[in-house]
Amino acid sequence: MSSLDYPFPDLPAPGTAREVAPGVRWLRMPLPFQLDHINLWLLQEDDGWTIVDTGIGDAGTRALWEQVFASLSGKFDLKRVVLTHYHPDHAGNAAWLCERFGVELWTTQGEYLTAHAVRAGAAGYTSDAVLEVFRRNGLDEARLGAMVTRKNRYAALVPDFPQSYRRLIDGDRTKLGGRDWRVLIGYGHAPEHMSLYCEALNVLIAGDMLLSTISTNVSVWSVDPEGDPLRLFLQSVARYREAAGGRAGAAFARQALPRRAPPGRGAGAAPRRPPRGIVIRIETTKCERRRPPAGALQAAARRPPDLLRHGRGDRAPALSVLRRPRFPHAREGRGHAVR
Ligand SMILES: [Zn+2]
Repeated sequence: MSSLDYPFPDLPAPGTAREVAPGVRWLRMPLPFQLDHINLWLLQEDDGWTIVDTGIGDAGTRALWEQVFASLSGKFDLKRVVLTHYHPDHAGNAAWLCERFGVELWTTQGEYLTAHAVRAGAAGYTSDAVLEVFRRNGLDEARLGAMVTRKNRYAALVPDFPQSYRRLIDGDRTKLGGRDWRVLIGYGHAPEHMSLYCEALNVLIAGDMLLSTISTNVSVWSVDPEGDPLRLFLQSVARYREAAGGRAGAAFARQALPRRAPPGRGAGAAPRRPPRGIVIRIETTKCERRRPPAGALQAAARRPPDLLRHGRGDRAPALSVLRRPRFPHAREGRGHAVR
Protein backbone atom coordinates (compact mmCIF):
# COMPACT_ATOMS: atom_id res chain seq x y z
CA MET A 1 0.00 0.00 0.00
CA SER A 2 1.49 3.28 -1.02
CA SER A 3 -1.16 5.68 0.14
CA LEU A 4 -3.87 6.08 2.68
CA ASP A 5 -7.47 5.46 2.01
CA TYR A 6 -10.09 7.07 4.14
CA PRO A 7 -12.93 4.76 5.06
CA PHE A 8 -14.77 7.52 6.88
CA PRO A 9 -15.01 10.42 4.46
CA ASP A 10 -17.76 12.17 6.40
CA LEU A 11 -16.46 14.16 9.30
CA PRO A 12 -18.18 13.94 12.67
CA ALA A 13 -20.20 17.06 13.32
CA PRO A 14 -18.78 19.39 15.95
CA GLY A 15 -19.70 18.16 19.39
CA THR A 16 -20.39 14.60 18.25
CA ALA A 17 -18.37 11.39 18.16
CA ARG A 18 -18.45 8.77 15.42
CA GLU A 19 -17.65 5.10 15.85
CA VAL A 20 -14.70 4.09 13.65
CA ALA A 21 -13.99 0.69 15.20
CA PRO A 22 -15.86 -1.34 17.79
CA GLY A 23 -15.85 0.78 20.91
CA VAL A 24 -13.62 3.46 19.38
CA ARG A 25 -15.13 6.84 18.59
CA TRP A 26 -13.60 9.73 16.75
CA LEU A 27 -14.24 13.41 17.39
CA ARG A 28 -12.67 16.61 16.18
CA MET A 29 -11.85 19.79 18.01
CA PRO A 30 -10.90 23.11 16.44
CA LEU A 31 -7.43 24.57 16.81
CA PRO A 32 -6.39 28.22 16.50
CA PHE A 33 -3.43 27.25 14.35
CA GLN A 34 -2.76 26.88 10.67
CA LEU A 35 -3.62 23.24 11.27
CA ASP A 36 -7.15 23.90 12.27
CA HIS A 37 -8.33 20.77 14.01
CA ILE A 38 -7.25 17.79 16.03
CA ASN A 39 -8.69 14.30 16.14
CA LEU A 40 -9.44 12.94 19.59
CA TRP A 41 -10.69 9.53 20.66
CA LEU A 42 -13.19 7.99 23.02
CA LEU A 43 -12.96 4.35 24.08
CA GLN A 44 -16.15 2.82 25.42
CA GLU A 45 -15.82 1.01 28.72
CA ASP A 46 -18.42 -1.23 30.31
CA ASP A 47 -19.29 1.54 32.71
CA GLY A 48 -18.12 4.70 31.06
CA TRP A 49 -15.51 6.12 28.73
CA THR A 50 -11.80 6.70 28.34
CA ILE A 51 -10.71 9.89 26.61
CA VAL A 52 -7.52 9.86 24.59
CA ASP A 53 -6.21 13.43 24.20
CA THR A 54 -8.20 16.50 25.06
CA GLY A 55 -7.85 19.57 22.80
CA ILE A 56 -6.67 23.00 23.80
CA GLY A 57 -7.87 24.41 27.10
CA ASP A 58 -10.27 27.09 26.00
CA ALA A 59 -13.97 27.78 26.48
CA GLY A 60 -14.92 26.80 22.95
CA THR A 61 -13.34 23.37 23.18
CA ARG A 62 -14.89 22.76 26.57
CA ALA A 63 -18.31 23.71 25.23
CA LEU A 64 -17.84 21.15 22.47
CA TRP A 65 -16.85 18.55 25.05
CA GLU A 66 -20.10 19.28 26.84
CA GLN A 67 -21.96 18.61 23.60
CA VAL A 68 -20.08 15.35 23.18
CA PHE A 69 -21.01 14.27 26.70
CA ALA A 70 -24.66 15.09 26.01
CA SER A 71 -24.64 13.32 22.65
CA LEU A 72 -23.71 9.97 24.17
CA SER A 73 -26.49 7.88 25.58
CA GLY A 74 -26.94 7.96 29.31
CA LYS A 75 -24.99 9.94 31.84
CA PHE A 76 -21.45 10.49 30.68
CA ASP A 77 -19.07 8.83 33.10
CA LEU A 78 -15.39 9.34 32.49
CA LYS A 79 -12.99 6.69 33.80
CA ARG A 80 -9.64 8.18 32.86
CA VAL A 81 -7.82 10.60 30.58
CA VAL A 82 -5.02 9.19 28.46
CA LEU A 83 -2.52 11.60 26.98
CA THR A 84 -0.32 10.74 24.01
CA HIS A 85 1.97 13.70 24.61
CA TYR A 86 2.26 17.09 26.23
CA HIS A 87 1.61 19.35 23.24
CA PRO A 88 -1.17 21.84 23.99
CA ASP A 89 -3.68 20.55 21.47
CA HIS A 90 -3.51 17.21 23.27
CA ALA A 91 -3.01 18.28 26.87
CA GLY A 92 -5.03 21.48 27.16
CA ASN A 93 -8.06 20.04 28.91
CA ALA A 94 -6.43 17.20 30.81
CA ALA A 95 -6.66 18.93 34.18
CA TRP A 96 -10.18 20.19 33.52
CA LEU A 97 -11.41 16.72 32.64
CA CYS A 98 -9.55 14.96 35.45
CA GLU A 99 -10.85 17.37 38.05
CA ARG A 100 -14.37 17.47 36.78
CA PHE A 101 -14.77 13.68 36.80
CA GLY A 102 -12.31 12.87 39.60
CA VAL A 103 -10.21 10.58 37.40
CA GLU A 104 -6.54 9.89 36.76
CA LEU A 105 -4.32 11.08 34.00
CA TRP A 106 -2.44 8.27 32.27
CA THR A 107 0.66 9.17 30.31
CA THR A 108 4.42 8.78 30.24
CA GLN A 109 6.83 10.38 32.63
CA GLY A 110 8.51 12.35 29.88
CA GLU A 111 5.29 13.92 28.74
CA TYR A 112 3.98 14.57 32.24
CA LEU A 113 7.09 16.33 33.44
CA THR A 114 7.61 18.22 30.20
CA ALA A 115 4.11 19.65 30.37
CA HIS A 116 4.84 21.06 33.80
CA ALA A 117 8.26 22.33 32.78
CA VAL A 118 6.98 24.13 29.72
CA ARG A 119 4.07 25.64 31.61
CA ALA A 120 6.50 26.93 34.22
CA GLY A 121 9.20 27.98 31.78
CA ALA A 122 11.53 25.79 33.83
CA ALA A 123 14.20 23.19 33.15
CA GLY A 124 15.55 25.09 30.18
CA TYR A 125 12.19 25.72 28.57
CA THR A 126 12.74 29.42 28.68
CA SER A 127 12.31 31.96 25.97
CA ASP A 128 15.96 32.98 26.41
CA ALA A 129 17.12 29.43 25.73
CA VAL A 130 14.95 29.20 22.65
CA LEU A 131 16.19 32.52 21.37
CA GLU A 132 19.75 31.39 21.82
CA VAL A 133 19.17 28.29 19.71
CA PHE A 134 17.64 30.37 16.96
CA ARG A 135 20.40 32.93 17.23
CA ARG A 136 23.09 30.29 16.94
CA ASN A 137 21.36 29.03 13.85
CA GLY A 138 21.39 32.38 12.16
CA LEU A 139 17.98 33.90 12.78
CA ASP A 140 18.12 37.58 12.01
CA GLU A 141 17.72 40.12 14.77
CA ALA A 142 14.40 41.40 13.50
CA ARG A 143 12.73 38.06 13.87
CA LEU A 144 14.55 37.38 17.10
CA GLY A 145 13.10 40.61 18.34
CA ALA A 146 9.64 39.46 17.36
CA MET A 147 10.12 36.30 19.34
CA VAL A 148 11.14 38.20 22.45
CA THR A 149 7.66 39.57 22.71
CA ARG A 150 6.09 36.16 22.78
CA LYS A 151 4.45 35.14 26.00
CA ASN A 152 4.22 31.61 27.33
CA ARG A 153 1.65 30.50 24.85
CA TYR A 154 1.74 26.96 26.14
CA ALA A 155 0.49 28.06 29.52
CA ALA A 156 -2.31 29.96 27.83
CA LEU A 157 -3.41 26.88 25.92
CA VAL A 158 -2.83 24.51 28.84
CA PRO A 159 -4.15 26.64 31.70
CA ASP A 160 -3.67 23.90 34.26
CA PHE A 161 -2.16 20.44 34.39
CA PRO A 162 -2.72 17.56 36.83
CA GLN A 163 -0.50 17.26 39.89
CA SER A 164 -0.23 13.49 39.66
CA TYR A 165 -0.53 10.82 37.01
CA ARG A 166 -0.32 7.12 36.37
CA ARG A 167 2.88 6.31 34.59
CA LEU A 168 2.88 4.15 31.47
CA ILE A 169 6.06 2.78 29.94
CA ASP A 170 6.95 1.15 26.68
CA GLY A 171 5.48 -2.33 26.31
CA ASP A 172 2.85 -1.91 28.99
CA ARG A 173 -0.39 -3.64 28.21
CA THR A 174 -3.43 -1.98 29.55
CA LYS A 175 -7.11 -2.79 29.37
CA LEU A 176 -9.10 -0.04 27.73
CA GLY A 177 -12.60 -0.46 26.43
CA GLY A 178 -12.47 -4.11 27.41
CA ARG A 179 -9.54 -4.82 25.12
CA ASP A 180 -5.80 -5.02 25.51
CA TRP A 181 -3.89 -2.05 24.22
CA ARG A 182 -0.12 -2.02 24.03
CA VAL A 183 1.83 1.10 24.88
CA LEU A 184 4.28 2.11 22.17
CA ILE A 185 6.69 4.89 22.97
CA GLY A 186 7.92 6.99 20.09
CA TYR A 187 10.61 9.63 19.95
CA GLY A 188 11.44 12.57 17.77
CA HIS A 189 8.18 14.47 17.97
CA ALA A 190 7.89 14.76 21.75
CA PRO A 191 10.09 13.51 24.58
CA GLU A 192 8.24 10.28 25.27
CA HIS A 193 5.23 10.18 22.98
CA MET A 194 2.78 7.37 23.67
CA SER A 195 0.76 5.58 21.05
CA LEU A 196 -1.66 2.74 21.71
CA TYR A 197 -1.99 -0.39 19.62
CA CYS A 198 -4.88 -2.85 19.92
CA GLU A 199 -4.06 -6.11 18.21
CA ALA A 200 -7.61 -7.43 18.42
CA LEU A 201 -8.89 -4.44 16.50
CA ASN A 202 -5.68 -3.87 14.55
CA VAL A 203 -6.04 -0.24 15.46
CA LEU A 204 -3.25 2.13 16.30
CA ILE A 205 -3.99 5.40 18.01
CA ALA A 206 -0.91 7.04 16.67
CA GLY A 207 -1.12 10.51 18.17
CA ASP A 208 1.28 12.73 16.28
CA MET A 209 3.73 9.99 15.34
CA LEU A 210 1.88 9.21 12.11
CA LEU A 211 0.08 11.93 10.25
CA SER A 212 -1.83 11.49 7.08
CA THR A 213 -1.32 14.49 4.85
CA ILE A 214 1.53 16.40 6.42
CA SER A 215 4.87 15.56 7.94
CA THR A 216 5.24 15.09 11.64
CA ASN A 217 7.09 17.93 13.27
CA VAL A 218 10.53 16.56 14.08
CA SER A 219 12.37 19.31 15.86
CA VAL A 220 15.54 20.11 17.71
CA TRP A 221 14.65 21.80 20.97
CA SER A 222 16.52 24.22 23.12
CA VAL A 223 16.93 21.75 25.97
CA ASP A 224 18.70 19.29 23.66
CA PRO A 225 20.26 21.48 21.00
CA GLU A 226 22.54 18.78 19.62
CA GLY A 227 19.88 16.11 19.65
CA ASP A 228 19.07 13.89 16.70
CA PRO A 229 15.29 13.70 16.68
CA LEU A 230 15.05 12.58 13.07
CA ARG A 231 17.01 9.41 13.74
CA LEU A 232 14.91 8.75 16.80
CA PHE A 233 11.72 9.35 14.89
CA LEU A 234 12.61 6.98 12.07
CA GLN A 235 13.72 4.30 14.51
CA SER A 236 10.47 4.71 16.39
CA VAL A 237 8.34 4.25 13.30
CA ALA A 238 10.25 1.07 12.51
CA ARG A 239 9.64 -0.16 16.04
CA TYR A 240 5.94 0.56 15.72
CA ARG A 241 5.88 -1.74 12.76
CA GLU A 242 7.72 -4.48 14.61
CA ALA A 243 5.40 -4.12 17.55
CA ALA A 244 2.49 -4.83 15.26
CA GLY A 245 3.86 -8.33 14.77
CA GLY A 246 6.28 -7.62 11.99
CA ARG A 247 3.48 -7.65 9.50
CA ALA A 248 3.87 -5.94 6.20
CA GLY A 249 3.46 -2.25 6.06
CA ALA A 250 0.01 -2.55 4.60
CA ALA A 251 -1.11 -4.60 7.56
CA PHE A 252 0.60 -2.42 10.10
CA ALA A 253 -1.93 -0.11 11.58
CA ARG A 254 -4.45 -0.98 8.97
CA GLN A 255 -6.64 1.45 10.71
CA ALA A 256 -4.11 3.93 11.90
CA LEU A 257 -5.82 6.76 13.64
CA PRO A 258 -3.68 9.77 13.06
CA ARG A 259 -4.53 13.07 14.54
CA ARG A 260 -4.99 14.96 11.33
CA ALA A 261 -7.58 14.32 8.67
CA PRO A 262 -10.13 11.54 8.80
CA PRO A 263 -8.85 8.22 10.12
CA GLY A 264 -7.22 6.33 7.33
CA ARG A 265 -6.11 2.81 6.61
CA GLY A 266 -2.50 2.18 5.90
CA ALA A 267 0.09 4.19 7.64
CA GLY A 268 1.81 5.32 4.60
CA ALA A 269 0.92 8.49 2.87
CA ALA A 270 3.81 10.39 1.51
CA PRO A 271 3.67 13.97 2.65
CA ARG A 272 1.73 16.15 0.27
CA ARG A 273 4.53 18.63 0.42
CA PRO A 274 8.04 18.03 1.64
CA PRO A 275 8.92 19.23 5.10
CA ARG A 276 10.59 22.58 4.88
CA GLY A 277 13.24 22.21 7.47
CA ILE A 278 14.69 18.86 6.61
CA VAL A 279 15.22 17.79 3.07
CA ILE A 280 13.97 14.29 3.38
CA ARG A 281 10.90 12.34 2.56
CA ILE A 282 9.44 9.82 4.90
CA GLU A 283 7.23 6.96 3.87
CA THR A 284 6.00 5.46 7.05
CA THR A 285 4.24 2.50 5.51
CA LYS A 286 7.43 0.99 4.33
CA CYS A 287 9.44 2.53 7.11
CA GLU A 288 11.84 3.68 4.49
CA ARG A 289 13.48 6.94 3.87
CA ARG A 290 14.17 8.32 0.50
CA ARG A 291 17.35 10.12 -0.16
CA PRO A 292 16.82 13.69 -1.19
CA PRO A 293 17.56 14.43 -4.81
CA ALA A 294 21.24 14.79 -5.51
CA GLY A 295 22.48 18.12 -4.33
CA ALA A 296 19.21 19.13 -2.74
CA LEU A 297 20.56 19.23 0.77
CA GLN A 298 23.68 21.06 -0.26
CA ALA A 299 21.57 23.60 -2.11
CA ALA A 300 19.31 23.99 0.89
CA ALA A 301 22.29 24.46 3.14
CA ARG A 302 23.49 27.37 1.06
CA ARG A 303 20.25 29.23 1.47
CA PRO A 304 19.61 31.40 4.48
CA PRO A 305 18.36 29.63 7.56
CA ASP A 306 14.78 28.61 7.21
CA LEU A 307 12.43 28.27 10.09
CA LEU A 308 9.57 25.93 10.37
CA ARG A 309 6.85 28.36 11.17
CA HIS A 310 3.43 27.73 12.51
CA GLY A 311 2.40 31.33 12.13
CA ARG A 312 1.53 33.04 8.92
CA GLY A 313 3.31 35.74 7.02
CA ASP A 314 6.00 37.45 8.98
CA ARG A 315 4.60 36.79 12.37
CA ALA A 316 6.98 35.49 14.95
CA PRO A 317 7.90 31.87 14.39
CA ALA A 318 6.80 29.31 16.86
CA LEU A 319 9.28 27.18 18.70
CA SER A 320 10.48 24.83 16.08
CA VAL A 321 13.46 23.66 14.16
CA LEU A 322 15.42 25.40 11.58
CA ARG A 323 17.74 24.20 8.96
CA ARG A 324 21.22 25.50 9.00
CA PRO A 325 24.38 24.76 7.09
CA ARG A 326 25.63 22.60 9.90
CA PHE A 327 22.32 21.13 10.82
CA PRO A 328 23.11 18.02 12.86
CA HIS A 329 21.31 15.61 10.56
CA ALA A 330 23.12 16.95 7.58
CA ARG A 331 26.50 17.12 9.24
CA GLU A 332 26.90 13.48 9.99
CA GLY A 333 24.55 11.90 7.56
CA ARG A 334 22.20 10.91 10.31
CA GLY A 335 18.71 10.01 9.37
CA HIS A 336 19.77 9.21 5.83
CA ALA A 337 20.12 12.85 4.89
CA VAL A 338 23.72 12.98 3.81
CA ARG A 339 25.30 16.28 3.30
ZN1 LIG B 1 2.36 17.00 18.89
